[in-house]
Amino acid sequence: MRRMLMPAALVALVIVVSVGRPSAQQHDGARLSALKQEVSKDVESRYEAVQQMLDMVFSFGELGYQEVETSKYLSGILEKSGFKVERNIGGLPTGWVARWGSGRPVIALGSDIDGIPQGSQKPGVAYHSPIVEGAPGHGEGHNSGVPLNITAAVATKRLMEREHLSGTLVVWPGVAEELLGGKAFFVRAGVFKDVDVVLFAHVSDNFSVAWGSPKNSTGLISIQYDFQGEPAHAGAAPWRGRSALDAVELMDVGWNFRREHLRVSQRSHYVIPNGGYQPNVVPEKASTWYYLREIDYPHIKELRETADRIAQGAALMTDTKVTSHIMGSAWPQHFNKPVAEAEAANIVAVGMPKWDGADVTLAKGIQKELNQKQDGLVTKPLGLQDDVPLDQNMGGGSDDIGDVSWNAPTILLRYPANIPNLPGHHWANAISMATPIAYKGTIAGATAQAMTVLDLLLRPDLIEAAKAFFREQTKDQKYEPMIGPTDMPALDLNKYVMDTYRPEMRKYYFDPTRYKTYMQQLGIQYPTVRP
Ligand SMILES: [Zn+2]
Repeated sequence: MRRMLMPAALVALVIVVSVGRPSAQQHDGARLSALKQEVSKDVESRYEAVQQMLDMVFSFGELGYQEVETSKYLSGILEKSGFKVERNIGGLPTGWVARWGSGRPVIALGSDIDGIPQGSQKPGVAYHSPIVEGAPGHGEGHNSGVPLNITAAVATKRLMEREHLSGTLVVWPGVAEELLGGKAFFVRAGVFKDVDVVLFAHVSDNFSVAWGSPKNSTGLISIQYDFQGEPAHAGAAPWRGRSALDAVELMDVGWNFRREHLRVSQRSHYVIPNGGYQPNVVPEKASTWYYLREIDYPHIKELRETADRIAQGAALMTDTKVTSHIMGSAWPQHFNKPVAEAEAANIVAVGMPKWDGADVTLAKGIQKELNQKQDGLVTKPLGLQDDVPLDQNMGGGSDDIGDVSWNAPTILLRYPANIPNLPGHHWANAISMATPIAYKGTIAGATAQAMTVLDLLLRPDLIEAAKAFFREQTKDQKYEPMIGPTDMPALDLNKYVMDTYRPEMRKYYFDPTRYKTYMQQLGIQYPTVRP
């Protein structure tokens, strides 16, 4: 069973608009609720299309900047649905923007599309079982968000045509979100310049929308320090060498000592993408790559300055040289209250999907497998999440939708297509993403999203309120891009990994001409759990 707009909620809506003498606004209210009911039925009817899109993108499993098949496929669907697609946005070969309609309001629907390294996993299986060992996959659930927005956009477009509603729909992908490497370039390319409202969607195990600064969220700068030393025979003449790897290690050690004296809200982590070639050659080049997270922009800048000084210290200690370059960035998120309230009302009206026994068995199976509480799936939507004051924000993850949220009124819809109590960025977060859990959760999310688009199209007061809130938000704090005017996306990242695994992964791309679902193609019994 899939979920429809709750009759009780509808009745309430109708009562609200029909009491007393009907004014023009009340007529509009009745029209709006009738259209919402219609759009929710329309979205319901697209279950099979949603299933196919999720299965297809899941099977591509592409990493950031390498979302070649994903982008071709999703933008192709929009083109076939009458949208005009512009490609290669902001210097991103996998970046595109699809537009349909005319005039105001301009509503932009976005969601991320990239996968996770080593995330390959068979859907519907509650233990680690990769499709291709070592390959990337959708261990974050980014295969579902653009399909959600496409579904909402296509269903709304049909009503807009029939009802002659003014407005422009813009569908766009979050490229390389895991690298925080796409949205600042979209902003710089002017994608959001004329946009009235941005509705962003991200997978979750719950159904909610936040306004202001969300709980446990940060912004970040992704920055790589490249050290340049002097090579030498490490056995015969080590005194002639200057090790870039020594500098990397000293920088990392320095950062780890400094960590104790940083604010509690910071989060920082690094990897060493280049530590030299082999032990008998003093490493001439070495690099360390940091994500520096804080809860507001001034503190992100401060962290970066601290890291710069530690890097210089490491270079001084080793007689090497250091340069740095920005690999990505994300402003702390700040979402629009009036639009979030509208989306929250729609979330409550739609309600959670109806999970069946198989869905709950899969959820409990993976929770047991990972020694977590066996809560199954969420049955009550979280709804509206209020702003968390900065002094209560204890830090957490980032999303470069933050950059967008300082350039146009923006909200983030979280829809229930995943399982609670999982670690995130993990193969376990992939297991639901090509199963009925994700299909139903995406339908629920698309319904709320489509209803919110209708709110924006039919309620000029909502657009005005959104703009007033945004003006207030940006009164003192103005957006300053962390990327410089000539910084370009690090497009080579992940290229090697995809080149290595793609030939094998290609054998497992979903073939909807031969199979109804991806699980069927892989011969998976749903759900598969340990006995
Ligand atoms: Zn994500």
